[in-house]
Amino acid sequence: MIKVTVWNEFIHETKSEKVKAIYPNGIHKLIADFLACDDISVRTATLNMPECGLTKEVLDDTDVLIWWAHVAHDKVPDEIAFRVRDAVNSGMGIIFLHSAHLSKPFRYLLGTACNLCWRESGDSERLWVIEPGHPIAQGLDRFIEIPADETYGEPFGIPNPDKTVFIGTYSGGEVFRSGVCFERLNGKIFYFQPGHETFPIYYQAEIQKVIKNAVRWAAPNAPRRSLSCPNVRFPSDKEKGYVKQ
Ligand code: ZN
Repeated sequence: MIKVTVWNEFIHETKSEKVKAIYPNGIHKLIADFLACDDISVRTATLNMPECGLTKEVLDDTDVLIWWAHVAHDKVPDEIAFRVRDAVNSGMGIIFLHSAHLSKPFRYLLGTACNLCWRESGDSERLWVIEPGHPIAQGLDRFIEIPADETYGEPFGIPNPDKTVFIGTYSGGEVFRSGVCFERLNGKIFYFQPGHETFPIYYQAEIQKVIKNAVRWAAPNAPRRSLSCPNVRFPSDKEKGYVKQ
C-alpha cells in the first residue's frame, strides 16, 4: 500500500467564487478522490492545520507527498519546509504541482530560484511525451491536449533535471519543461506544470493518470533512512565554543 498525503494551501477555493465552483471541496480533496484505490491510501493536509498538517508523525507515515500552493508560500514556516526536505532526502517521494515551483520545499530541495515566465491568457497547451518509456508516461498517447491553461514559459530556473518526461507547447508559442524528475539523496521528486486553479485541469483523465503514475514512480522501494553516518558526530555548540548572545 502506498501512503499518499495531498497538501494544499487551500486559499483560492475559499476566497474565489470561480475557483470554488470548480473545486468546491478544494483541489486536495479532488486529487485525493481520484488517487484512492486498492494500492494507494490517501490523507490530506492544509496550511491552516497545526504545523500545516505536516507533523513528523504524518511525514514518517507518508510515502509520497503531493504539494499544491500559490499565494502563501511564505506562510509555510521554514521549520516545516526543512522537515519536508529532510523527509525527501531520507526517501519520501514528492510531487510538486503547478505553482508549487516557488514553494519553499521545492526551492530548498533544488537549490535554485525556480522562477519562470508566465501569463494568464487561457492558451491551450499540448503536453508532449518525450520519454514514452518512462513509468510516469505509461498509458498515455503521444501528447495530452489541455483546452485552457495558464502559460508557463522558459527559462525555468531549475537545475538540469535527471529526466524531462513532458515538454509543453502553448498556442501562444511558448515552450516549457512541464514534467521533470529529480533525485535528492534517497528521494524522488516530480514537478508537473498543469493545474492553474481557474481551469478544471485536475478533472482531465490523462492528467489524473500522470499524477497516479508519478505516485507509483516516486514511492520509495526501500525503507526510509536518513543518511547521517553513525560514526560521525557533530560537535555540540559548547564543544565548538559558541556562546549564546
Ligand atoms: Zn497558476
